[in-house]
Amino acid sequence: MTSVLPHQKAKALKPGSRRPAKELCSECGLCDTYYVHYVKEACAFIHQQVAELEEQAHGRSRNLENPDDLYFGVNQKMMAARKTQPIEGAQWTGIVSSIAIEMLTSGKVEGVVCVQNTAEDRFQPMPVIARTPEEILAARVNKPTLSPNLSILEQVEQSGMKRLLVIGVGCQIQALRAVEQKLGLEKLYVLGTPCVDNVTRAGLQKFLETTSKSPDTVVHYEFMQDFQVHFKHQDGSEEKVPFFGLNTKELKDVFAPSCLSCFDYVNSLADLVVGYMGAPFGWQWIVVRNDRGQEMLDMAMSQLETQPVMSKGDRKNAVQQSIPAYEKGVTLPMWAAKLMGVVIEKVGPKGLEYARFSIDSHFTRNYLYVKRHHPEKLEDHVPEYAKRIVSQYRLPE
Ligand code: FAD
Ligand code: SF4
Repeated sequence: MTSVLPHQKAKALKPGSRRPAKELCSECGLCDTYYVHYVKEACAFIHQQVAELEEQAHGRSRNLENPDDLYFGVNQKMMAARKTQPIEGAQWTGIVSSIAIEMLTSGKVEGVVCVQNTAEDRFQPMPVIARTPEEILAARVNKPTLSPNLSILEQVEQSGMKRLLVIGVGCQIQALRAVEQKLGLEKLYVLGTPCVDNVTRAGLQKFLETTSKSPDTVVHYEFMQDFQVHFKHQDGSEEKVPFFGLNTKELKDVFAPSCLSCFDYVNSLADLVVGYMGAPFGWQWIVVRNDRGQEMLDMAMSQLETQPVMSKGDRKNAVQQSIPAYEKGVTLPMWAAKLMGVVIEKVGPKGLEYARFSIDSHFTRNYLYVKRHHPEKLEDHVPEYAKRIVSQYRLPE
């Protein structure tokens, strides 16, 4: 049982006011609540403390000498999985929503923190505490924008709930772990997804307009393991745009500064992580970090088919070459980008090696971003595991 300590309260910050993390704020929602009192210790962009919080959540921090720990964080088990009957309209096959529904209907938790969208805008996030399976299902699919999931923390306390499941991305979960003991809960389950390259709502609009042929009809998109962005449109049609054809020059400042300085791609502090990037195309990737994560996965196991994780190829050259290409904002003509996509898909990294490719490319880019824009933060803000990953590559000044 989590110990319940009395907590201090402060006045929540006004919507739209400047946040303590300034331009690095990821709008995680903490500062919209009286838990803003703890922001200096809790904010992922002010006080990086992944190793300490791993110890608190999982009983140990990652072993930097173990290659899987180094890249994917503390883990008991990894696998590829997919629902035998996928949930229609989910981001992938709906494993996250299915686990949340089982946790709620079995009575293990009384509510689930998740993020629906507003009635007017399918991409505008609206965090809720779901208390029915319908409310969980209404939160399925990514809102690919910064989402203030923790803004409902005051409601959690006021509701008197004692057993809660929170679904969220890394920066939200770091702040949550930092205030976990103050929430008055008996049991907290944390179900995370990996997260990278998130954007503000305005940034999303720019991305869609620059990249898709029909930005207004996009309902869903993902950067896939076949090195293409897959857009799904309202009429059910699919549009694929190769990564190498993206207009990098235009898109360079589209990503939120928080996401350009984030090193918690794999959601190190969640009990269970459900993504896709370490799995073969069409499958989801599951990382069980601790016993609580296993308990959650067990709830939905009968609805899943699984296979062991695999790893193929060598990412290192592709990552090294992508560093100057990104710096120069190289955009290939579409025919060349498509051709390159086809070749890389055939011979490129697969499974866990694809996940490492994506982690390496983003960590090197983000390391350079922090070094150039916030040099005073570089030493403390970049966790030791990320420094080791980045040190495998030659970086420009
Ligand atoms: P569903 O059953 O559709 O449920 C999705 C859940 O995500 C919902 O419960 C909802 O509450 C929650 N959610 C939606 N939007 C947000 C948000 N903005 N913030 C917090 N929670 C949210 N996986 C990878 O392997 N590699 C990646 O690079 C990667 N990038 C991602 C970027 C973003 C911005 C997000 C939100 C997720 C990303 N993921 C990534 C995770 C992946 O896209 C899927 O969300 C995950 O595999 C779960 O799929 P599902 O079908 O089981 O989810
Ligand atoms: Fe506050 Fe969260 Fe922004 Fe940090 S990231 S300043 S905790 S809202």
